[in-house]
This record gives sequence, structure tokens and C-alpha cells, in this order.
Amino acid sequence: MSRDTDCIFCKIIAGEIPCAKLLEEEHALAFLDIGPVARGHALLIPKGHYQTLDEMPPEAAAAMFRRLPELVRAVQAVTECEGINVLQNNGRIAGQVVPHVHVHVIPREKAGRFSFNWPAGQYEEGQIDALAKAIRRRLSEGEEK
Ligand code: AMP
Ligand code: ZN
Repeated sequence: MSRDTDCIFCKIIAGEIPCAKLLEEEHALAFLDIGPVARGHALLIPKGHYQTLDEMPPEAAAAMFRRLPELVRAVQAVTECEGINVLQNNGRIAGQVVPHVHVHVIPREKAGRFSFNWPAGQYEEGQIDALAKAIRRRLSEGEEK
């Protein structure tokens, strides 16, 4: 499995830095975020070192994401929150600070501190179809590789 010796999450996986562990298996680890935006804020990570989601092979992504529903259920049950956001930041512009893929599981309460903007826009005539076509083409090229 790939590892970056300078990566803080790789060090957690190796047991060199402690964490409040929630689950561990061959390809995935979950622990509580040390700087929680809400009580029970958890992180789910792959054990292999991938900086961003697009670098992950499907098997590694599947092995990580398959544990997500049960983690969400457990955090929701224990914190008794009203809802949960699942957030995954890729790249500095998207708010990623730790360059090892991680999925945030964030409990939400009406009185909670965490919130975000959702500035919904709209497409001009025909734009949505052209964009969808370009992405479909790219997806089908990817499948041929
Ligand atoms: P992101 O901004 O998406 O890269 O989020 C990185 C998250 O990792 C932040 O929420 C940090 O609080 C969290 N974090 C950083 N170091 C640790 C650590 N040693 N143990 C647990 N969580 C950490
Ligand atoms: Zn790493």
C-alpha cells in the first residue's frame, strides 16, 4: 500500500500518531477529527496514500466508501444529531488542508456552528446539454483505457 512518510494521516495509520479510532479494517480507517466543527465530527480515510479522490483506484474507493453508511449511522445514533453532512474536499481551493483523501462525517444540529453557502445558479439555454455531453464523452473515454 502506498505511503507518504511526511503525511500526518499515513502516520496515524502506522500508529506513529495517536487518534480516537472508530473503525479499522484492511483498507480503511475512521477516527474523530481533532478540530471538530461539531461534536462527533469523524473522518473516514483509505489506508493507501492518495492525495485526492481522482487518484484512487475504484477498489480502494469502494473499500473505503462501503463503511460510510454504518459510520454515519453510528455517529448519528451516539450524537443524537438531527442530520449529517458528508463532505470530501479535493484541492486547496476546495478547502483541503491534509493531502490524504478523507471523508468528513459532520453531525448537524439547528444550533450548531457549522454551515455553508449553497449559491445555486442556472444554465443558459443549451448549456446543460452540452456540458453533460462533454462529461459523458470523457467518461466513455475513461472506460476504454
Ligand atoms: P481538510 O480541510 O478537508 O483537509 O480537513 C482536514 C481535517 O483533518 C481537519 O478537519 C483537521 O481538524 C483534521 N486533522 C488534522 N490533523 C488531525 C489529527 N492528527 N487527528 C485528527 N484529525 C486531524
Ligand atoms: Zn497519507
